[in-house]
Amino acid sequence: MTNIAKNLSAVRRRIVDACSACGRDPSDVTLLLATKTQSPERILEALNCGHVLTGENRVQELVGKSAALGGQRIERHMIGHLQSNKASKALDHVTCVQSIDRVTIARKLNALCEARGRTLDVFLQFNTSEEDSKFGADPELAISFAHAIAGFSNLNVRGLMTIGLLAPFPLMSRRSLSRLRDLRDRIATENIDGIDLRHLSMGMSGDLEIAIEEGSTMVRIGTDVFGERNLPPGTFWPERTGTTPVGLA
Ligand SMILES: *Cc1c(COP(=O)(O)O)cnc(C)c1O
Repeated sequence: MTNIAKNLSAVRRRIVDACSACGRDPSDVTLLLATKTQSPERILEALNCGHVLTGENRVQELVGKSAALGGQRIERHMIGHLQSNKASKALDHVTCVQSIDRVTIARKLNALCEARGRTLDVFLQFNTSEEDSKFGADPELAISFAHAIAGFSNLNVRGLMTIGLLAPFPLMSRRSLSRLRDLRDRIATENIDGIDLRHLSMGMSGDLEIAIEEGSTMVRIGTDVFGERNLPPGTFWPERTGTTPVGLA
């Protein structure tokens, strides 16, 4: 067995254990592999273990690997911040954009989908950790944000997404994860037409268990499957500048 195969079964085991610890059904938790910086060869190893769902952060990487892995059974989600001018390229390669963090990007994707006669699954990304360095809509604006995105007829909302707080104490991480569940529950009381809130995409290598306890239905794992990336975290969650609240721009 390769390392990746071993790591994958260890992660699957952790998901099963975390679910049984809190009385959940493991089939309610999907594993998405966060494949940023990983070569097509390494991703192929994971695919050969029967894994098909992956997430990429950068459009350039997405496009390159998509070409390299042509013909493989693989589903890709965009999980990184998406710039408007890259939306069209991204759309060629993904079935879902989990990083809907502002209305403008949703409007752009909706227009592109309309022109191509297709739809796109999306998740609403919230910044639940109050870290300026993280993308995501402002939780205070959750209701109006959800109404706005629900109004785009070619986008199908499937749930919410967050990047939990990477904190030294589990209690601190937990709050940022339970907050996403609370947001889901608050949005649900609005009974917005055509919006599906089934998924809570949260939980990474460091907080998988807590995320599952807090209701995650999709964990996004990179490091514990592929190994350390040796890159500073800021590489993929660049500092935001200015004071404009992200969300309703
Ligand atoms: C990198 C990344 C992950 C996976 O993080 P690990 O700690 O490596 O498991 C999950 N979600 C997003 C948005 C990421 O950028």
